[in-house]
Amino acid sequence: MITRSSVPLQRPGREPRPLPIQARWQTQLARAIRDPRELCRRLGLDEAWWPGAERGHALFEVRVPEAYLARIRPGDPADPLLRQVLPLAEEAVPMAGYVADPLAEAEHAPAPGLIHKYAGRVLLIASPACAVNCRYCFRRHFPYEENAPSRAQWETTLDHLRCDATIHEAILSGGDPLAASDRQLAWLVERLAAIPHLKRLRIHTRLPVVIPERIDDALLGWLTTTHLQKVMVLHINHANEIDEAVIAACRKLSAAGVTLLNQSVLLRGVNDSIGALAALSERLFEAGILPYYLHVLDPVAGAAHFDVADDEARELVAGLREVLPGFLMPRLVREIPGEASKTPL
Ligand code: SF4
Repeated sequence: MITRSSVPLQRPGREPRPLPIQARWQTQLARAIRDPRELCRRLGLDEAWWPGAERGHALFEVRVPEAYLARIRPGDPADPLLRQVLPLAEEAVPMAGYVADPLAEAEHAPAPGLIHKYAGRVLLIASPACAVNCRYCFRRHFPYEENAPSRAQWETTLDHLRCDATIHEAILSGGDPLAASDRQLAWLVERLAAIPHLKRLRIHTRLPVVIPERIDDALLGWLTTTHLQKVMVLHINHANEIDEAVIAACRKLSAAGVTLLNQSVLLRGVNDSIGALAALSERLFEAGILPYYLHVLDPVAGAAHFDVADDEARELVAGLREVLPGFLMPRLVREIPGEASKTPL
């Protein structure tokens, strides 16, 4: 059985020496911080933060790799990157309307590793693991153990795509699909490319942002070989996440013919200001990425403290429109279970 926690990572309870942030991506992934106290200590946070961090960690484990840690301001509990990864006691407070599966994905899973919600495209859970555990993740309770197909099961899952000529796009998701090995991804993409009616490969990932070294020759090898059109939808919520290493990784992807888009989540205490959202769009464009979606928070249990009310979200976007050119404006949307597409707010 594969779960997020069974993916090989550092041994809990031992504090490893800090890694050079240019270490191989697999090493960075394996040695990501998984101890809430270690995270607090490394960032110089007061011991008062420890009990809450341990409470939240018990519900959804902490995971932060070195390359991401390096972008967090030490000693600042309000840092917008830290807010995304630091477990808090608030996560244990039940809130009406906040549930384990806010998008009702379980109702749209016809085969292991497959979610088919919208016409023309399907989503494949290519990896149960992530490089970072984002506290607001709508899949923080996702049953990855039921969605980790073996190669034989993948063939059955792929039959769903082979038999439906209306499907033109395969979306690799997770977890983070780029947490899978290049061998596994190359195998999967080769089979997808052999389906005659499939035109596009879309990859939803946070790994090039969290560990930019993930964009290496091995990845670019299978990505450039396939004839499928390639779109990568990155997940970046704050301008501080985009450092020079991220920009270099994005340049390699652009040179490989990958269209780069970004989706963000509107998060209280992270990017809930016109200034933060405008800076994000500007910085995305510097990295060659176009803003695509700004999602309001999906009501997942444990994340209510990140919520921004719809009226406030609309006001923020109206203000953003006054300071940004149209092509840098993300679309403000909500995903409503059962709807045929994302719903604009
Ligand atoms: S990287 Fe994506 S899937 Fe993984 S925890 Fe963060 S938001 Fe969720």
